[in-house]
Amino acid sequence: AKQRGTRAWAQYNEAMGAQAALRMELAHRLKSALVEGELSMVYQPLIDVRSGQIKGMEALVRWKHPEYGFISPAQFIPMAEESGQIVELTNWTLWQACSVSPGMRADGGSAIVPVAVNISPVYFQRDDFVDQIRHVLKKTGVDPDQLQIEITEGVLLKEQQQAVTKLTELRRMGVVISLDDFGTGYSSLSYLKNLPIDKVKLDRSFVVDVTTSEADAELVRGVIEIVHNLNMVVVIEGVETAEQASLLSLLGSDLFQGYLFSRPLTACDMQALIRNCCDF
Ligand code: C2E
Ligand code: CA
Ligand code: CA
Ligand code: CA
Repeated sequence: AKQRGTRAWAQYNEAMGAQAALRMELAHRLKSALVEGELSMVYQPLIDVRSGQIKGMEALVRWKHPEYGFISPAQFIPMAEESGQIVELTNWTLWQACSVSPGMRADGGSAIVPVAVNISPVYFQRDDFVDQIRHVLKKTGVDPDQLQIEITEGVLLKEQQQAVTKLTELRRMGVVISLDDFGTGYSSLSYLKNLPIDKVKLDRSFVVDVTTSEADAELVRGVIEIVHNLNMVVVIEGVETAEQASLLSLLGSDLFQGYLFSRPLTACDMQALIRNCCDF
């Protein structure tokens, strides 16, 4: 038994070592991934619950590693934050999003569908964050109200007052701000009333059992009511079934995002979706 235990331990160590080695290799590779063109962006629509129209889209990064294939951003974004590569990466996502934005027109070409970029805490906390946004907007000629940002409450962990100042400045420019992954962190509710934000994105974990658990449904109803009382818009993430959509609609959701409507699409496919239809 002892020997088996030792062997299991050795295997465990080996696996952990392999995992650490993989992490290091990926962290190293991420540097060149940008240069080699292994990163790309996809876009997922946000659907207006009442009209069924596309009212926005979220830009999501993808990494296609030559050997390992697609690596999830949930895996490499934290690595990039640790190594500082998130700065270069986010600059790149901002450029990408602002470059495709002018082509994303609905309503027969008049209205531009805004694009939202995820901003991680490390990037947000840099002194030049707001200037970077301003710089990219200016260089690409994109209107501030065509770009939106998604932040998490992680941006508030340090220097809350500075965070509020930055958000206020962005909002004054016309950039719409969403609080992402709402309900997964800590003192979410108290943050809400102090933050200059426009939208609250309710995390997918609230949706999974909403049709089978009365408690979950009541929780969602309560959160929606609070968010509405603060004059903010509610986005529901991860809507996968028609049953979820109809219940969440009854509960008062404003916008839906999820596989039921569309998976994240290439810029080209997203453009086609916006042009050719699209009332869900
Ligand atoms: P997130 O910001 O919460 O993004 C939503 C995630 O949910 C995306 O995963 C999206 O593909 C997925 N999703 C959308 N609808 C559904 C659905 O109906 N069912 C399920 N199961 N999932 C759905 P993705 O693209 O893998 O991104 C994961 C996370 O990685 C994101 O979570 C975000 O935190 C981060 N991320 C992605 N792209 C970027 C980026 O460009 N910059 C930064 N800083 N973070 C990013
Ligand atoms: Ca997001
Ligand atoms: Ca989210
Ligand atoms: Ca999430």
